[in-house]
Amino acid sequence: MGFMDFLNKLVPIELFRGMAVTGGYFFRHKETVQYPEKRVEPMDRFRGMFGYDLDRCIDCSLCAKACPIDIIYIRDHVDVNPETKKKKKVIDRYDIDVKRCMFCGLCELACPTEPRSIWLTTKTYEASTYERNDGLYFDKERLSDWRGVKAFPGVKTPAAGQDPADPLGKKPKPPAAAAATEE
Ligand code: SF4
Ligand code: SF4
Repeated sequence: MGFMDFLNKLVPIELFRGMAVTGGYFFRHKETVQYPEKRVEPMDRFRGMFGYDLDRCIDCSLCAKACPIDIIYIRDHVDVNPETKKKKKVIDRYDIDVKRCMFCGLCELACPTEPRSIWLTTKTYEASTYERNDGLYFDKERLSDWRGVKAFPGVKTPAAGQDPADPLGKKPKPPAAAAATEE
């Protein structure tokens, strides 16, 4: 046995090395928070609960066509104005079977309206349920009023006017948009 081997046996150097690594992490900034009293704000690009705006939606079905697993169901009918004879599509059903969703965001990318009528960047993720078939199947009303979903603190529901590009309403608005919001 050499001198260094003897010294290693006498003094547990590896133990001290391990403790130095542990000590280094002990004094670093902690990422753990006391959930649910505190919550970490998701990144802007985080895809979570869906937002849907029926008033903006033009019923083009591009979102349903873009969905690779066909979980967006749209049904409509055409109303004819008896006076003007103008035709208008009316959405009867806009459902998403969220329990099967893989949050790829292709539906949001396909939506041509500005702001988008379907979006997932809502910073909201608390939609857990004990019964997933009904609880995670969202019709157009629930996609808008978020019944059964706990919005991230500070985030409005889509029905209350959530901005898809700024769900927390923190970003500075261009002067024209800010004036329109105040009116
Ligand atoms: S995010 Fe979900 S609903 Fe949208 S396209 Fe992807 S799988 Fe379909
Ligand atoms: S792509 Fe957008 S506008 Fe078209 S049906 Fe879907 S949500 Fe509505």
